Amino acid sequence: MTHQPDPTTPGYITFETDAVLARLTAYRGHDAPTHGGRVLSYVYDSGLAALDELAARAAREVQSVNGLDPTTFPSVALMEGDLVAFGRQILHGPDAVGSVTSGGTESCLLAVKAARDVWRERHPGSTARSRIVLPQTAHAAFHKAAHYLDLDVDVVPVDPATGTLPAADLTRRLDEGTTLVVVSAPAYPHGVVDPVTEVAAAAQEAGVPCHVDACIGGLVLPFWGAAGGGPVPPWDLRVPGVSSISADLHKYGYAPKGSSLLLFADRALDRARYFALTDWPGYPVVNPTVLGSRSATSLAAAWAVTTALGEQGYVALTRRLVTATAAVRGCVDDIVGLRVLGDPVGPLVAVVADEDVPAGERVDPHLWAGAVRRRGFVLQGQPALTQSHGSVIPRSTHLTVTPVTAGVLDELLEALAGGADDVRGQAGAGAAGGPGAAAGDGVAGSPDLPDPAELARAAREDGELDLTAVLDLIETLPREVSARMLVAFLAEFTEPRVDGR
Ligand SMILES: *Cc1c(COP(=O)(O)O)cnc(C)c1O
Repeated sequence: MTHQPDPTTPGYITFETDAVLARLTAYRGHDAPTHGGRVLSYVYDSGLAALDELAARAAREVQSVNGLDPTTFPSVALMEGDLVAFGRQILHGPDAVGSVTSGGTESCLLAVKAARDVWRERHPGSTARSRIVLPQTAHAAFHKAAHYLDLDVDVVPVDPATGTLPAADLTRRLDEGTTLVVVSAPAYPHGVVDPVTEVAAAAQEAGVPCHVDACIGGLVLPFWGAAGGGPVPPWDLRVPGVSSISADLHKYGYAPKGSSLLLFADRALDRARYFALTDWPGYPVVNPTVLGSRSATSLAAAWAVTTALGEQGYVALTRRLVTATAAVRGCVDDIVGLRVLGDPVGPLVAVVADEDVPAGERVDPHLWAGAVRRRGFVLQGQPALTQSHGSVIPRSTHLTVTPVTAGVLDELLEALAGGADDVRGQAGAGAAGGPGAAAGDGVAGSPDLPDPAELARAAREDGELDLTAVLDLIETLPREVSARMLVAFLAEFTEPRVDGR
């Protein structure tokens, strides 16, 4: 169909709506399926088509709004107010204040920025470097925040068997130079909850703010108990000493990508997240979050989804998570050669090789992920990591269970068990250990080092990347080298395609 405004309008423009959309549909044909429970990471499918439709309509309703200025567009403040109120309720901080951000990374970044600025205010004229203290399992977003905000990171090793650490390992590192300590509820890699109560208490004692990263748990742990998932150790704003918390609406909030909640128990910290400027000749600037002009579409979509579901809706969806997660854990427990790492609380599970069985019966988690993929389900590989004191967090395969997992459970469990049978006893590359931590181990000239451009070309042509090979490389190469390789790879992968495909 050709959209044709009145041709008597001077300079009228016509365009081919259907052709443009057909091309987008063709592009989308290259994507992993976002619905149906075949991909156990990245996507959080409620299984409720009407909810997705509601989100789309809400987004469309505010398509032309600029979230930069809630005084001009009060709907932005109203929706955000409702979401923050919802956050106060489920995270149990009746007096908490905060914002909706574009995602977990922005929430974490702003929590770090707020803590840094309060620290600076309390240390006027200090030239000492300040740092954030965090467990090895804390999300990469905190490393990114420290990088952007020029802070040091003090990364504390975790116990490779449990995926977490004794609180004292973290709290003994708190001192005058600490701007923030971070704990996760739960941490993404293994789904394990850190000792929030003990860390927050010690942080309060030391006068250090404590951020609980509940980006992935923040809209599932509040409902876990009521959904029959069993007790969750204290982790939210009720815990004394917790000063801020992040909870992603675009994960287990089931909103489309682009929304996260960031709440502060402490108003001084909350104010420190803002940026305001009157020292330029344009409009007065006051930004609560990172962006300037910003879309209100994901805010409206998240608002609509949470408003429609309410706490009862989340409890009902969490029930499906509880059932499916228990079934997945039970299945892994029954597979010879594999085991679940630590004791996860919530719908995330990391699976590692069972070192207690003879090598001939062990299952390499990355070969397993490949075998399960051939059986129709995409799991997420995570490389082994050597920590600063030398212990190795083993390579693992991560599963993010979602409500739709419950609908494909029989098929999934069969693929998990059958995939293990396919590769049992086979040794994965580099299975013996972790990566070299130091830079420049003479790898630069290694003949095995793949050309990132070649990897990108192959990924484009085959429509998928050989992730097992990439994980093997990450385990083998010095970290700086593998990080540079990833940059080169993605830059190549996303460059405009000369054939215009
Ligand atoms: C997903 C996640 C983040 C980062 O969130 P994005 O929305 O991907 O930016 C931070 N922390 C945890 C624990 C997460 O799971």
